[in-house]
Amino acid sequence: KAKEKGRDETVLFAPELREDKEERKLLMEGLDTALEKGEISLYLQPQVDAASKRIIGAEALMRWQRDGVFIPPSEFIPIAEETGHIQDLGRWMIHETFQLMYAFEQGDIDLPKLSVNLSVRQLFDEHLIDYLTTLFNRFPIEPGRLNFELTETVAAHHSERVLNRILELKALGIKLSIDDFGTGYSSLAYLVRYPIDELKIPREFTMQLEENREYQTVTATIVAMARQLGMALVAEGVETEYQETFLRRIGCDSMQGYRYAKPMPLDEFVIFYMKQRQ
Ligand code: C2E
Ligand code: MG
Ligand code: MG
Ligand code: MG
Repeated sequence: KAKEKGRDETVLFAPELREDKEERKLLMEGLDTALEKGEISLYLQPQVDAASKRIIGAEALMRWQRDGVFIPPSEFIPIAEETGHIQDLGRWMIHETFQLMYAFEQGDIDLPKLSVNLSVRQLFDEHLIDYLTTLFNRFPIEPGRLNFELTETVAAHHSERVLNRILELKALGIKLSIDDFGTGYSSLAYLVRYPIDELKIPREFTMQLEENREYQTVTATIVAMARQLGMALVAEGVETEYQETFLRRIGCDSMQGYRYAKPMPLDEFVIFYMKQRQ
């Protein structure tokens, strides 16, 4: 036992881990100033109806470009969530989302839905509802076009607090979806308890569809459940024709993935939108 512990300790001080620690420290420091330095931007990834090929929505995704290099969200978002930087970053994303939606509605861009990711800390932010109310006053957009993507970790909190917060968001008219549905540890009871509008099939499932029958079954079950509960669906990470055909056959027509479009800056998104409308 003692020997094992000793071994663990050497693992703790392995050089790669020290590098990781350095890397983390650099990211944390970078996050302090990323916003004010203008390094953060919002990309949009279209969601399309596979049958008609029309854009049915878009997901807003945060990008951090430092010294010309993009740092993947998978690296900096978890750190930002840990340190609390996600509060300011997430707030910035929400603000941009309102501004965009307002510009779209004023212009001639009829985007039925704009989704933005909301992390646990943001959901629990005591100023969230005030902030949203202020934004709705400033940018009077149609609330039902705004969609917050929550993770199962959020939904799995069995507290009054989550329920109340979710009801407050619904009272504002905002739509809610569960991101990466089925990858977290949570009961299904929250789907009954909380008014969820949409489930997103995780890329982790989509990418296995061609190889793995079990994933086909799990995905088909999610789709059937969502439909019976009257929820909308979006499949994430759709890249191949096989995946598209399978998903459509089991009843999911809404797709988000590289097969249709990658996340892109606003100007490219507008061009993409204009093209598909012709
Ligand atoms: P997510 O919310 O599940 O977003 C979908 C991710 O899948 C995006 O990665 C998108 O670029 C990627 N994706 C979509 N289609 C495909 C595909 O066909 N192939 C592949 N390989 N990837 C595809 P991204 O932008 O790197 O974001 C990763 C995660 O970071 C997001 O996963 C989300 O959890 C988080 N994130 C991104 N922006 C924000 C934000 O503004 N706030 C918060 N709280 N989290 C964010
Ligand atoms: Mg998402
Ligand atoms: Mg997702
Ligand atoms: Mg994901």
